[in-house]
Amino acid sequence: MAALLPGTATLGVLGGGQLGRMFVHAAQAMGYRCIVLDPDAISPAGSVAEKHIKADYLDPVGLAQLARDCDAITTEFENVPAMALETLANMRVVAPAAASVAVCQDRAVEKAHFEAAGVPCAPHAVITNEIELAAIDPALLPGILKTSRMGYDGKGQVRVATAAELAAAWENLQRVPCVLEQMLPLQRELSVLVARGADGQLVNYPVQQNLHRGGILAVTEVPAPDVPAEVQALAVSAARQVAQTLGYVGVLCIEFFWLHDGRLVVNEMAPRPHNSGHWTMNGCDVSQFELQVRALAGLPLPAPRQHSASLMLNLLGDLWFGEQGGPTPPAWDRVLALPGTHLHLYGKADARPGRKMGHLNITADTPEAAHDVAVQAAAILGLPTDF
Ligand code: ADP
Ligand code: MG
Repeated sequence: MAALLPGTATLGVLGGGQLGRMFVHAAQAMGYRCIVLDPDAISPAGSVAEKHIKADYLDPVGLAQLARDCDAITTEFENVPAMALETLANMRVVAPAAASVAVCQDRAVEKAHFEAAGVPCAPHAVITNEIELAAIDPALLPGILKTSRMGYDGKGQVRVATAAELAAAWENLQRVPCVLEQMLPLQRELSVLVARGADGQLVNYPVQQNLHRGGILAVTEVPAPDVPAEVQALAVSAARQVAQTLGYVGVLCIEFFWLHDGRLVVNEMAPRPHNSGHWTMNGCDVSQFELQVRALAGLPLPAPRQHSASLMLNLLGDLWFGEQGGPTPPAWDRVLALPGTHLHLYGKADARPGRKMGHLNITADTPEAAHDVAVQAAAILGLPTDF
């Protein structure tokens, strides 16, 4: 396929959330027109694209309109029905492919892919019926029961210590297909973003160190301050291996656990730019969203160069509800007085606790300086400063 040259083409995205919005911003900066398909009348991406098709992800009329008006189409979330991508692929260039997204949609299939790629994941078992439930190896307990499909930000997960708790948890999850994973002693959580072109060109960002609070990403630091170089090299090569064996096209994020005994295991992956890669918007010469645009358009993929030590603080709706109640906007003016701070808000009208409203990137000459500013910013915002 010939590249879709900037200034001549229209790119489409399924989904109108913040990831779609930042994709649209990057695409528009390069001169592409953008069309967003999203069922909501108002959405972060729909409100910045040249055009918003308000339709359900399986609406044949909406999909046909998107296919007609776009030269290539991507997705901003993995739970888009695989059927929608297949339908579009029959009409237009779609990246990532429906088959890749389907692997990421199902934890059991995803884990099988990791194992086939020779990348170790957590000991686990699939539970789809009573017989499998009864046959669970007690060595997997204590563990985490996760729904195979539709989980995100810690949703659809229950921690279980005994066989009785496991049975009750599965009952509570309506007996949907699940994966039980052994609870692992995590030293740190890491992720690696790669981008791969249709021609097989493959580039990666450096290892990202992630801190979660309540199942939601809170802080990402790059370079990963606590992780030995050989562990980082292993994570990068595993991530590249996973992308290659999938024949993946687009931006892919792979999450890892670094365990107390020094082992590295893969956790899960997302077939799109990732919250843990938002620092690349200010800390690198090419952001994850620009690489998503380039991969979709068939343009060259330059190896990204990190030019600044970076730290990202996720900004949830809770910040709008301080001691006086709310919602009131946080003191952005005080935060932005700190050196190297870059605020990204997603244009969501209503702040709600737990809702991703934006992120703050902090860049500096050294990791220590970035950390220092981040702690000051967190204190102003009322966020925990123990990172
Ligand atoms: P989600 O799709 O919600 O991101 P994850 O599988 O990444 O689901 O789990 C969310 C978080 O729960 C992880 O980032 C990690 O902190 C914790 N977690 C998940 N699986 C395990 C495990 N096997 N052992 C220990 N902690 C885990
Ligand atoms: Mg995760």
